[in-house]
Amino acid sequence: MAGTASPPISPSFEVTNPRTGAVLYTVDEPGPDDLAAVYSRARKGFERLRAMTIAERLHEVGKLKTYIQEHKETIVQRIVDETGKPRIEALMTEIFPTLDLIQYYEKSAVKILRDQKMPTPLVMMGKKSKIYYEPLGPVLIISPWNYPFNLSMTPIITAIIAGNSVIAKPSEHTPLRGLIEEIMEGAGFPSEFIQVVYGAKETGKALIDHQPAKVFFTGSEAAGRAIMTQSAQYLIPVELELGGKDPMVVFDDVTLPRAVQGALWGGITNCGQTCTSVERILVHAPVVDAFIDQLKTAIEGLNTRDGHEDTAQDKSLDVGCMTADFQVAKVEAELADAVAKGAVVHCGGKRSDDSNAFPPTLVSNVDPSMDIYSEETFGPVVTVVPFTDEAEAVKLANDGRYGLSASVWSADDERADRVARNIVTGNVSINNVLATQGNSALPFGGTKSSGMGRYKGPHGLYAFSNVKSILIDKNSDKKEPIWYPYTEEKYGLISALIDASIQGGLGGFLKTAKIGKKLEKFTKT
Ligand code: NAD
Repeated sequence: MAGTASPPISPSFEVTNPRTGAVLYTVDEPGPDDLAAVYSRARKGFERLRAMTIAERLHEVGKLKTYIQEHKETIVQRIVDETGKPRIEALMTEIFPTLDLIQYYEKSAVKILRDQKMPTPLVMMGKKSKIYYEPLGPVLIISPWNYPFNLSMTPIITAIIAGNSVIAKPSEHTPLRGLIEEIMEGAGFPSEFIQVVYGAKETGKALIDHQPAKVFFTGSEAAGRAIMTQSAQYLIPVELELGGKDPMVVFDDVTLPRAVQGALWGGITNCGQTCTSVERILVHAPVVDAFIDQLKTAIEGLNTRDGHEDTAQDKSLDVGCMTADFQVAKVEAELADAVAKGAVVHCGGKRSDDSNAFPPTLVSNVDPSMDIYSEETFGPVVTVVPFTDEAEAVKLANDGRYGLSASVWSADDERADRVARNIVTGNVSINNVLATQGNSALPFGGTKSSGMGRYKGPHGLYAFSNVKSILIDKNSDKKEPIWYPYTEEKYGLISALIDASIQGGLGGFLKTAKIGKKLEKFTKT
């Protein structure tokens, strides 16, 4: 939202190209009146959306799919300009999953959200039970800078299909100003269904004070805590998709070259700025030296580029630059702390100039005294830690406050499954990395300090729904036997009814029916 009648919440800010340093544009933060107007429009949008069938909502969302597909190169360019990521990553991990999610819901949403018949127990004979999935209202979606398109569009699309209007606040570092509006306009999608508000943290807070029906937040642990605290004042439900420190557990029976390539991509893609990046590689001791050697060679073979020269058109660039200066500084501080405490840097570790291009880095000999061991690094840095047996692997994988995602690599399917079950986390890929989030049908979310709630898959639609239970009885001249008055005889019959109904089976059924008949006399009105 540009142009403010009321005083801005914070000063305006510049959005820059992280590779070249060029200022792309300046954003004026909205004022309080602007936000009030946004909510008023969102409420109107909600009334329209809730009245639509799921098929009608899918029809509207399908228009976005077509437009995004037809304009993917323009969208890729916008993403690359603001994030510094390689072109192919914008295509593969921002555009494709967005289209795939729409396609998944086109096939499944009507079934997921349709009224559901539920069983009714014998003691409630003659009644019917159902679940209705209804929208919540205008929801607020706050997004981070690492996947600015996909991590905005995924919850936005899901919320819309479930019937909610959306107010989206992208990150101030990568707002992609005007892009979603352009897509909506080009696609002929109703503009009151999604409104994008551009601003930083203070604008995010002011938006929560307007009391949306739900806050869906993706970002850092610290901001997640602040948002949950603020939302608690209004009892607004929150969904928190936070950080991670994901382990990759490699057993000695794997085909090492594939595991090494998995570690390479899982740790370095998006310059390591992925919530589910491989940050901790736990390797079975017999193969740890070979693993480190092969991973170092593989890292050194990556196509990287230092400096400020624009790489946006380079389709074969493997590693982009980091998106934010402050994140580069954080990575450097973690590495300096680790090295001072005895960590070994096998490759990378230092920038060759003052650009945001940070070299892929491999570190070993790390221990819990170092920040790099337990803090989310969020840069192109992986650590390798050896383990001696399965129990130690699980212990190390669970050592830490995060629990977002993990991977387990072994030729022994049963062992891999056992370890996957024993890691406290939201997602596990077996013999693959970052793979669960590649399937739109699988719910995504964290445990521990990685957040709460799930999105994508059926759970994504339920996360944006009021799950309403319905019990239907007939109009009749009888009352329920459990209603007033209470008598000693009724007490005895109800006690016997409980025993019969818990007994179950044919015997329990017959007893329940018999007691039910005796209770009939209490149904006269
Ligand atoms: P961040 O928390 O700094 O900011 C995220 C968004 O929240 C931004 O739009 C910001 O303006 C807003 N914000 C910050 N404080 C706020 C407050 N108090 N009230 C309202 N809004 C506020 O996160 P970031 O640096 O943009 O993103 C990186 C983090 O996001 C990493 O920790 C990463 O792991 C995490 N992340 C998680 C997932 C996931 O799905 N679990 C996905 C991507 C990124």
